[in-house]
Amino acid sequence: MIALQNCATPEQKARWLRPLLEARTRSAFGGAEPDVASSDATNIATRMVRDGNDYVINGRKWFITGAAHPRCSFLIVMGVTNSDADRTRRHSCIMVPMDTPGVRLVRRLNWMGCQDHVAPIGELTFDNVRVPAENLLGAEGDGFKVAQVRLGPARIHHCMRSIGLCELLIELMMVRAMERSTFGRTIIQYDTVQRWIAESRVELEQARLLAYRCAWRLDQSGHHGAWRDVSLIKVAVPAMLQRIADRALQVFGAMGGSEDTPIHQALAWGRLLRIGDGPDEVHLRQIYRMEPTPTWTIANSPYLAARPA
Ligand SMILES: Cc1cc2nc3c(=O)[nH]c(=O)nc-3n(C[C@H](O)[C@H](O)[C@H](O)COP(=O)(O)OP(=O)(O)OC[C@H]3O[C@@H](n4cnc5c(N)ncnc54)[C@H](O)[C@@H]3O)c2cc1C
Repeated sequence: MIALQNCATPEQKARWLRPLLEARTRSAFGGAEPDVASSDATNIATRMVRDGNDYVINGRKWFITGAAHPRCSFLIVMGVTNSDADRTRRHSCIMVPMDTPGVRLVRRLNWMGCQDHVAPIGELTFDNVRVPAENLLGAEGDGFKVAQVRLGPARIHHCMRSIGLCELLIELMMVRAMERSTFGRTIIQYDTVQRWIAESRVELEQARLLAYRCAWRLDQSGHHGAWRDVSLIKVAVPAMLQRIADRALQVFGAMGGSEDTPIHQALAWGRLLRIGDGPDEVHLRQIYRMEPTPTWTIANSPYLAARPA
């Protein structure tokens, strides 16, 4: 939706975005591919060849969230339109209705044993899929830009959902630990458990403030101005979710790893977010690169004691 809102023409918005906003249909974004390292979107290899008024698409995509949902009616597919162009201008994005001949849902994928019932994940092949050129989102060569525009807000949405999930995990920990006893005391009375809950609260409030600042920066300066904040939160929140979910699982004992609680799914979700929408390492590299270079050296530092001559 974000990609359509920012990059579609008015006619495209009427045809593709409005039904999504009215919840009459669903869509998915087809970037990642099994045969290339997809954390670098410029590696995407699906071919999109112009043929008259159409584009003909050939390739394979996987881990496409929502593509296996029965109500998913179209995909935004990223593919190579000009392999000779600069690496960030080689790709384009195009809307592909799921019922176009040549589009095949090969299988439904699970993640760490969990099924995403809300937005089931699909692997798809595109075999001479022909779609009109008017379905192109943005200009030819804008694919990388469209993917980036989509990912900024998408990443903060994931973080906001994760923050809400952590609130639930803390509450679950509290309730469970108050209800059960070992060795003559309720579990909540043990220092260790109180500390886990308090540490979770400290981490959660830090993350919430980071999310607010990131949202504010997106509003103030748009996607480019918020680049660093998006990376900061994208690294901080999934790691926090994993830690809090791990503590909650421990507090629950055996039940925590069962399907009777959402804790194991929270763990898997945290783990996913450390890879999806850009792995930690890519964001950390980005953050490092934005770190201002100090103008002083160890020898002339205003903060260190001068070395004796
Ligand atoms: C559950 C789930 C849902 C997903 N949904 C979608 C979707 O809807 N649409 C979509 O297009 N994709 C989706 N993806 C795919 C996701 O975007 C990719 O998995 C992700 O971009 C990483 O690509 P890759 O798996 O090919 O890993 P690779 O690119 O092969 O990277 C593997 C590892 O290499 C390391 N690495 C990579 N770059 C660097 C670097 N610069 N510095 C240091 N280390 C590095 C990292 O540790 C990384 O985890 C989904 C993935 C999952 C698991």
